[in-house]
Amino acid sequence: MKLFDTHAHIGLIHEDPIEQLIITQEARQSNVEHIISICNSLSDFDYVYSNLETASHIYHSIGVSPSEVQNPGVDWEMKIIEGTKLDRVVAVGEIGLDYYRKFGNRDSQVELFIRQLELADKLDKPVIIHNREAGEDVLSILSEKLPARGGILHCYSEDWAYAQKALELNLYISFAGNVTYRNARNLHETARNMPLDRMLIESESPFMVPSAYRGKRNKPAYLHATAEFLAELRDMPIEEITEILYTNSMNFFGITD
Ligand SMILES: [Zn+2]
Repeated sequence: MKLFDTHAHIGLIHEDPIEQLIITQEARQSNVEHIISICNSLSDFDYVYSNLETASHIYHSIGVSPSEVQNPGVDWEMKIIEGTKLDRVVAVGEIGLDYYRKFGNRDSQVELFIRQLELADKLDKPVIIHNREAGEDVLSILSEKLPARGGILHCYSEDWAYAQKALELNLYISFAGNVTYRNARNLHETARNMPLDRMLIESESPFMVPSAYRGKRNKPAYLHATAEFLAELRDMPIEEITEILYTNSMNFFGITD
């Protein structure tokens, strides 16, 4: 079994660079062949990237998340342009809208989101999208501004009706540990019905720990629990579904090794 963790905040799981390396090694021993490390702010990106530069199974995504809307830094566009030139930086993100935590105001979030979608398209990178209580705006913006290389709705938290609209835009849908929660019926319905060729999985660590590890701080090594849950939900052998999810991830990010 080979797993691909499409979304882990390595810099938030642990601040210590040695611990970060241990986390990635531990993941590999738990069949996580690749991880996309997501920066939470641009300064976090510089730090984590340089620390994990020698970890050949770690890839990176760079972007300004909606939580940073009030403080993206004056040179944020240049940082993304420079960052995406680096080896193993394969996406722009996470970017998007978060109306739950009300960072800044809606207009400033929307503006930052659109500017990064346009930038990603210019840089020929796919995008990783954060949506919290902003589903309608996210889809209406993406229907006009989705980069040619496509996008992932990460840590999917909407229902099946929403997923069908997202699939019409050819978006990928990535499930995190919350799909394993017993009362997450909307997520179960979505994961059961959606086409497998658009499905991805992620740890979203240190958040969203799968129910099998409830009470622990999440890390990529726990990703197998989400894969096992989906295999059971889809009534498929674990080897078969993980092979599909792995191939989807490699294709989406354009990774060949
Ligand atoms: Zn995240």
